[in-house]
Amino acid sequence: MLPPFRSYVLVSRQQIARNYRNVRSVVGPDVEVMCVVKADAYGHGALEVARVLLAEGAGWLAVSSVDEGVQLRCGGLHQPRILVMGGFLPYEGEALMEYSLTPAIHSLAQMRDLEHLAAGAARPIPFHLKIDSGMNRLGTRAAAQQIGEALAEARHARLEGLMTHFASAADYSTTQTDDQIARFNAVRTGLRQVGVEVKIVHAASTNAIGYGRSEGNMVRAGHALYGYVSPARGDAPRQLLEIQPALTWQAKLLAVKDIPEGALVGYGGSFRAPRPMRIGVLGAGYADGVFHRLSNRGKVIADGKLTPILGTISMDLTTIDLSHTAALAPGDAVTLLGVEGEARLDAQQIARVAGTISYNILCCISARVRRVYV
Ligand SMILES: *Cc1c(COP(=O)(O)O)cnc(C)c1O
Repeated sequence: MLPPFRSYVLVSRQQIARNYRNVRSVVGPDVEVMCVVKADAYGHGALEVARVLLAEGAGWLAVSSVDEGVQLRCGGLHQPRILVMGGFLPYEGEALMEYSLTPAIHSLAQMRDLEHLAAGAARPIPFHLKIDSGMNRLGTRAAAQQIGEALAEARHARLEGLMTHFASAADYSTTQTDDQIARFNAVRTGLRQVGVEVKIVHAASTNAIGYGRSEGNMVRAGHALYGYVSPARGDAPRQLLEIQPALTWQAKLLAVKDIPEGALVGYGGSFRAPRPMRIGVLGAGYADGVFHRLSNRGKVIADGKLTPILGTISMDLTTIDLSHTAALAPGDAVTLLGVEGEARLDAQQIARVAGTISYNILCCISARVRRVYV
């Protein structure tokens, strides 16, 4: 029986678990896997996904903001350590402490803020220090000497982890990742020389894991858990991950009808039927996360076959070509993302047509689309 919703995603708990186990086997027993569940687990539902991962033995989760961390704690996840990769703003400090979240710290000034906060609460707080090794986004560019001095003044804020983030991990046509690793390792060596020992070191996310560039003793896996790794550029080594998408996105047909040659479909009349056609109207549109850019370009899977989107995507409706089948009627489901029969449509394929990346496709499946766990 189909779920009683116009548009819904089916998330396979088993596939999330399999993907997690595969990441673990690729990085080996000496490397811990931190599971990135930011942005509602890339649209898959952070609480449910986290529960699956914890049952598989995950000890660390990562989110972007204090707010996301608080939501996990309030959902009953008291056990796992939670890294807030986006750090904290002054007004978030209290919640950070109260909910036992671990911040990534991006500057020495922020390290002093954290020390102040922890001293005020009279208890220690662990943090991870992010090094800007060349992406020039978050992270400190301070030298090891300066970092050592700032650490020496922190009595309550305790350095537990050292991290960095790669800008081009799947791109073997540039040396950016090698340069970043070199700079990160120079900071590690410099810190050791001033007597700073760090327990946890992490740099790799999905693409670096997939192409075997995991530095340190922890990795931060996001996209891989959901079944995706980016294709490489340049002369890359063999990709190591064996993962599959865990999410299927479907929408119900609201109407099926026959239109004559020359009929204009949808807003702006941007599609003109070149012959008599059967069309279907789906109960999902750009407010559900169907990219407007897919108007007259994208495809969906109907009755096991890829078929084009016709005309302009509306807020709540999308029109498709059903000329190939007489089997579908209102109430039947069509697949926007997933596998049906021989046909397959994943977030990377959709992203290519929509002019974006797979991450963007998954994160844009809106809150209105109900998540169903199977
Ligand atoms: C999102 C994010 C990750 C996870 O990246 P994936 O490519 O999804 O594995 C890791 N680290 C940081 C800092 C991130 O922002």
